[in-house]
Amino acid sequence: MDLENTKYKNCQKDFHNKCKFCGKELKPIGLDYLYTNVSSKLIEYERCTCKESKVYWKDVDFRIQEQKKREHYTEMISQFYSQNYISKMLKDYNFKNLKVTDINKKEVAIAKDYAKKCINDEQENGLIITGNSEVGKTHLVAAISNELMEKGKIVLMGRLTSLLDIIKGTFKDNSKPENELIELFSNIDMVVIDDLGTEKISSWALDKLYTIIENRNENKLPIIITTKFDKEGLLHRFKQSNDKELSDAIIQKLYQMCYGIELKRYNKNQKEKASASDKIKC
Ligand SMILES: [Zn+2]
Repeated sequence: MDLENTKYKNCQKDFHNKCKFCGKELKPIGLDYLYTNVSSKLIEYERCTCKESKVYWKDVDFRIQEQKKREHYTEMISQFYSQNYISKMLKDYNFKNLKVTDINKKEVAIAKDYAKKCINDEQENGLIITGNSEVGKTHLVAAISNELMEKGKIVLMGRLTSLLDIIKGTFKDNSKPENELIELFSNIDMVVIDDLGTEKISSWALDKLYTIIENRNENKLPIIITTKFDKEGLLHRFKQSNDKELSDAIIQKLYQMCYGIELKRYNKNQKEKASASDKIKC
């Protein structure tokens, strides 16, 4: 984004004192141009009002606005990470220190490819990583997240409760309006919910989760879930919120927009048998 922004700033300089579309002479803005030691490139000129120029500036303004939004999101998220010990720990997990075995090599390859597509903005589908405890789900998903963050993507990763605490405003004594935080969850490059279903989920949390999933789906943005539950198990956990309809809707939507991979426990004796675990499309 930075590169793009610089590019646009440079385009702005290209204007000089003439509209590059219609050739109209433009007046300088401010008094900088009166100083003889000011480089002509630093002088800002008024915007031409011709049709092409209007289209051009609309696009420039939109991109600048998007960049500002990203900076704002990044700032908000860094506050969350600085106050969340577990999330800080996750930063140490990457693909380099992930133990690749015969059992997980296929899944690791899929995860790497998935991360690559996210980085290139080619991934609209989400990913559900299932598997029992201690099979490396969190490590794998943190590796994807870190890969994305290294490439400048905005990622929010955590357990559902701690993520929703951001919306509740309890992670900090700020009073950000709820819709602004929902907007953040709906627009950042990646949201990763670790260990979904383990924590007790309230009807309120379910409602927020649905909104986030629905918005991200509409915005064609992916989401990653790790869970030790299968589809039925997750549905059962959600239904404990006593909102059957919403539980069904979330599971349906989630499995519609996500690929699935399953991690298995590494067991030397069962190497042959377990390596048959394949990528599943949910
Ligand atoms: Zn013009």
